[in-house]
Amino acid sequence: MAGPAESVAATTPPEHRDVTPIDALPSALEAFEAIRARVDGLTPILCLDFDGTLSPIMDDPASAVLLDGIEPVLRRLVRLTPILVLSGRDADDVRARVGVGGILCAGSHGFDVLDTDGQHEPNAEASAYLPHLDALEARLRTETQDIAGVVIDRKRFGVAVHDRQVTDERDLERLWSLVSAAAEAFPMLRPLRGKRVTEFLPEIDWNKGRALLWLLGRAGYRADAALPICIGDDVTDEDALRAVREQGIGIVVGTGSRLTSASYAVRDPAEVLAFLTQLADFLDVRVLPAVDVP
Ligand SMILES: [Mg+2]
Repeated sequence: MAGPAESVAATTPPEHRDVTPIDALPSALEAFEAIRARVDGLTPILCLDFDGTLSPIMDDPASAVLLDGIEPVLRRLVRLTPILVLSGRDADDVRARVGVGGILCAGSHGFDVLDTDGQHEPNAEASAYLPHLDALEARLRTETQDIAGVVIDRKRFGVAVHDRQVTDERDLERLWSLVSAAAEAFPMLRPLRGKRVTEFLPEIDWNKGRALLWLLGRAGYRADAALPICIGDDVTDEDALRAVREQGIGIVVGTGSRLTSASYAVRDPAEVLAFLTQLADFLDVRVLPAVDVP
């Protein structure tokens, strides 16, 4: 996988710190008129996270499905504008859960991209890390086999350790000391802490934000004609929210005092549904500039 196309790299906004507590942000629903005004005349490119954004967070990540009502809105939207779902899950997994044709899916935080025909375009640099991921997975499975509730989720380019179902405090402490020791033993892998999950990824300069810019460049979007709208709930989405901060719209899903690079917030996947519905209603009635769905 090559780096971002030069035309896109040249427009990459400067790095920004995560600046605003979520609760201090305006609601994307209440501020929809302002968002609509920014979209007007441009091609919005929707970049959506899956878990906690399009799907309610589940105790068992294997049971996550689209929130009721989102699928028909995605079917409407994909006829109106390009959609990319960028998830920490495997690309095949997220594609199956989204289940709407024409949506571009990227997994493993952007390390693994599927085109709309379901063909893989894995990150070549990350492929060199597969033996380390295999060894880490084997070690963690062995060491945590007597800890009730731990879920080790192997993805193509990541190993995720979920503790959502570990209820015993001492087990939880032991689990995290094992995870810390594994992190020290595998310096070529980067532990990424999310909500009740730590995921080990190849330690290379790639994240959801880089993936988003690369995908936009690959699809040939001109920065002055496209408006990325990024929606995500987790710290792993902050790279993408930061990447669109200057030339797009970042919407964080959640509440609380966590700092975010987003410009707007919605409370939960139900409000994501409400936002996407308003956006579809708006795009439905306007005359779009010609777009090629990647
Ligand atoms: Mg998420």
